[in-house]
Amino acid sequence: MNIQKVGVVGAGQMGNGIAHVMALAGYDVLMSDINQETLDSALALIKRNLARQVGRGTINESDMAGALNHIHTTLNLADIGQSDLIIEAATERESVKQAIFEDLLPHLKPKTILTSNTSSISITRLGSRTDRPEKFMGFHFMNPVPIMQLVELIRGIATDDATFQACKSVVDQLGKTAASAEDFPAFIVNRILMPMINEAVYTLYEGVGSVQSIDQSMRLGANHPMGPLELADFIGLDTCLAIMNVLHDGLADTKYRPCPLLTKYVEAGWLGRKTERGFYDYRGAAPVPTR
Ligand code: NAD
Repeated sequence: MNIQKVGVVGAGQMGNGIAHVMALAGYDVLMSDINQETLDSALALIKRNLARQVGRGTINESDMAGALNHIHTTLNLADIGQSDLIIEAATERESVKQAIFEDLLPHLKPKTILTSNTSSISITRLGSRTDRPEKFMGFHFMNPVPIMQLVELIRGIATDDATFQACKSVVDQLGKTAASAEDFPAFIVNRILMPMINEAVYTLYEGVGSVQSIDQSMRLGANHPMGPLELADFIGLDTCLAIMNVLHDGLADTKYRPCPLLTKYVEAGWLGRKTERGFYDYRGAAPVPTR
């Protein structure tokens, strides 16, 4: 399968990163979202991030110009249908993703490979509701996409080998490393990472430590580059909660129950960096713990 045109649905923090790395690797990228402001700010962010790479000397000016020429945007989801590979990177809610795939189906080429960047939702279930479960799989980038080396590739029960190999060759072309994961809730990285983040929130909830002491303990005591609460803010607390709910529902084990304090932050709309408030308040010059 020759992949040249890549469609990216959702231009949030993951979608813009995916468009960035795909365009830099020479793919023609068409990115869509539900409003023009999101598309405009995604493009502006991609420009800033590419310029930063030029500043660091990891790419040159002509790589940057080439990448920007390869990215186009649309508000019309149907335009994405003619892509060879589609990566859905919209909000982590099954009903949202399902509606996107339903809307896309009538516009797809017979050979189009459909994938989701979901952090946790069943690939088999998402694929079973399309007309091509054998050409459907999980294409899970890590955040921030231009920096993180790993991509988890998840086969649904029906995914065929040609589809898996085509996606694996795209990962190779990006210069990233693919890890193959089976289709169980949250796959590998988030199955291990998210319960740790949730436990950090319980540690805060029970008063064992403050935001600062929990993060400092894990940075200096476990040699993690970021504390778990800092990392939760970076990922998005709504995404963290959604993943814990998928683990809890999918594995039916109480050890995965989301911490009520995490739910409370999400209910408050304090979703982390993207809303400027989460376990830290980012509205000033330096982040200030909110508890
Ligand atoms: P985000 O909230 O930053 O962006 C989601 C985007 O989807 C928004 O711009 C929203 O407008 C758009 N959207 C919603 N409905 C849409 C529709 N019908 N059509 C087109 N666009 C639509 O979220 P994110 O962090 O970019 O996460 C996106 C996906 O990537 C989720 O499935 C998430 O689980 C996964 N993911 C997130 C991370 C992370 O660290 N945040 C890491 C890996 C994977």
